[in-house]
Amino acid sequence: MPPSDSDRFLASRRSELLPIAPSSSPGEGAPDDWRWQVRRAARTTDALAAALCLTPSEVAGARRAEQAGLPISVTPYYLSLASRDDDACPIRRQCIPDIAESVVADGDLLDPLGEVPNEVAPHLVQRYPDRVLLIATDRCSVYCRFCTRSRIVGSGGGGTSLEALAPAFEYLRAHPEIRDVIVSGGDPLTMSTERIERLIAAIRAIPSIETIRIGTRVPVTLPMRITDELLAALRPHHPIWIMTHFNHPKEVTPESIAACTRLADAGFPVMNQSVLLAGINDDADVLETLFRKLIRMRVRPYYLLQADPVQGTSHLRTSIARGISIMGKLQGRLTGIALPKYICDTPGGKGKVPLQPNYIVSTDGAKTTMRTFRGELVDYIDPPKAD
Ligand code: SF4
Repeated sequence: MPPSDSDRFLASRRSELLPIAPSSSPGEGAPDDWRWQVRRAARTTDALAAALCLTPSEVAGARRAEQAGLPISVTPYYLSLASRDDDACPIRRQCIPDIAESVVADGDLLDPLGEVPNEVAPHLVQRYPDRVLLIATDRCSVYCRFCTRSRIVGSGGGGTSLEALAPAFEYLRAHPEIRDVIVSGGDPLTMSTERIERLIAAIRAIPSIETIRIGTRVPVTLPMRITDELLAALRPHHPIWIMTHFNHPKEVTPESIAACTRLADAGFPVMNQSVLLAGINDDADVLETLFRKLIRMRVRPYYLLQADPVQGTSHLRTSIARGISIMGKLQGRLTGIALPKYICDTPGGKGKVPLQPNYIVSTDGAKTTMRTFRGELVDYIDPPKAD
């Protein structure tokens, strides 16, 4: 059988096929077009096995994922970043199912952030007084095996219509204390440009909304989605912040750099939320490399997230003690703009808690003794009459 387009894409050098700056209106028939990538995403065990030498554990996990739980989807682009033979590859472990997903560990939850009990209108979740999460679609270009929202993503509904979101908009109009809407999913930028533009315009029409954030992994998994057409459609609705999700330096490629550069040049601040993942990035050297690469492409490392206890992901999670130790090593190695906050989004939807090493050794009246990143003890004396 002659090789398919996807086979040819995988077998070819990406740099030859993926120009760094995609044209503004590419046809749908080439690997540098996002629709081509979505249509040819690997969604079955056989498709993954055609591209990678799967282990028995991966084959069993993929067969299980075809039947139940979080489905499979990996774009040819993201698959091309994965090692064909090394099952410890950090790309592969993020997107290829493993039979360990069938394990239910102590503390695992289907809805770790308590989004279901905090739904204030259909598709609208409120856990803080001033901000909400709007679930715009259940689709993603790649289904990440650690996904917090694995209970709903890929469930088949697709994009949520504006009609279905009418009660959510009504709620926002009735609650002017809400100033910030995070449009998430699924991945909103897997929707058509027209659809995402209409949604963003509808949110922007609510006078009390100051900030719109779009949570998207397409700069990482489908960077050719950041087209001139998309940027032109969204720009009139600024300020819009892009919240993306690089987890490993291997994800920083000419294509992802181009996507983030185009976003930054069009006035979209790009913030990154890495998830701390066992054997993938739970290492100070790996994260230092990633964060340095991100600031070079004008992406701000914003959060390092302790992985949520999503059911079936215990093999991908690491301990809070390890995360704090990593943050201790990075403090002093990295400039402040490259150093994210380390956050645990507490189970049950109780809110985010920042975590860090304890730098305060003792307090004695006005004197606070601290340990610096070099391990030196230094006293700070409060001013007279301070509280
Ligand atoms: S892109 Fe986001 S919503 Fe989609 S599977 Fe990955 S983590 Fe989950």
